[in-house]
Amino acid sequence: MSTVIVTGGTRGIGLAICEKLLEDGYKVIATGRNPSEDDKLSSPNISYQSLELTSEASIRKFCEVISNVSSLSGLVNNAGINIIKPYAEITDENFDQVISTNLKASFVISRAVVKKLQSSQSHGRIVHIGSIWSVISKSGRASYSASKSALIGLTRAMSAELASQGILVNMVSPGFVNTELTARSLTPEETKSLTSQVPINRMAEPREIAEVVEFLLSKRNSYISGQNIVVDGGFSHV
Ligand code: NDP
Repeated sequence: MSTVIVTGGTRGIGLAICEKLLEDGYKVIATGRNPSEDDKLSSPNISYQSLELTSEASIRKFCEVISNVSSLSGLVNNAGINIIKPYAEITDENFDQVISTNLKASFVISRAVVKKLQSSQSHGRIVHIGSIWSVISKSGRASYSASKSALIGLTRAMSAELASQGILVNMVSPGFVNTELTARSLTPEETKSLTSQVPINRMAEPREIAEVVEFLLSKRNSYISGQNIVVDGGFSHV
C-alpha cells in the first residue's frame, strides 16, 4: 500500500483529497496545525501529524517523520493561506506569513520527500496546490498571487530536474471552491458576483479538485510533468 502525505488535510480541499485517496486504497499522512479528534477521519489507513508551516522547528520535525515513512509515493502541498489587503497596507509580516506558508514550506517539505524518494530509489508524484490567482490576479491579492505564481516556477524547475528519476511534479490551480477559506475571503455579494462570471455558473466542490489531484498522484499519470492544471470552470478564459 503506498503512502501519500497531504498538508492541511483537516479541512476543505485537503480533507476531500484525503477522503478520495483513502477510497482509492492509499495510506495517508495528513497534517493540520493541531488536529483535534473532530478533524480526524476514522480510517485505519490515515494518521495525523501536527505541523505549523510558519515554524521552522515544526517543519524540521515533520521532515524527520518523512525520512521514516515507508512506501512513500506522493506529496500534496495543499495547506495555504490568503491575506487580502490593499497593496500599500500589506505589512512585511503579512507578506512573510503568506510566502512562508504557501511557498517556502512547500519547497522545504518537497525537498525532504525528494530526498526520501531518491534514497529509496522510488518513483513518486508531487502536487502543489496553486490557485487561479497564480495565472491571473485581482486587487488585494499581491502576497497571495506572488506566492502561488512562484509555485509555478518551482513546479517547472523540479520537473525539469526530477522527471528523469521518475518523480513527476505538477500543480493544480483551483478557481472558486466551496470551502471555509472562500467563505472567509469573500463576502456573500462578492461570491455571487464572481460565480456569475464562471462559465459553469457555480463554485467547485472540494471533491472536484480532489479527483484531479488523485489522477496526478496515481500511476495513471505517466506523462504529465511540470504543468499547472487550472480547474476553474472556465473562469480564466472568459
Ligand atoms: P482551508 O482554509 O479550508 O484549509 C486550509 C488547510 O491548511 C487547513 O487544513 C489548515 O489547517 C491548513 N493550514 C493553514 N495554515 C496553516 C499553517 N500555518 N500551518 C499548517 N497548516 C496550515 O483552505 P482550502 O481548502 O480552501 O484551501 C486549500 C488550498 O487550496 C490552499 O493552498 C489554497 O490557497 C488553495 N485554493 C483554495 C481555493 C478556494 O476557493 N478555497 C481556490 C484556489 C486555491 P488547520 O486545520 O490547522 O487550520
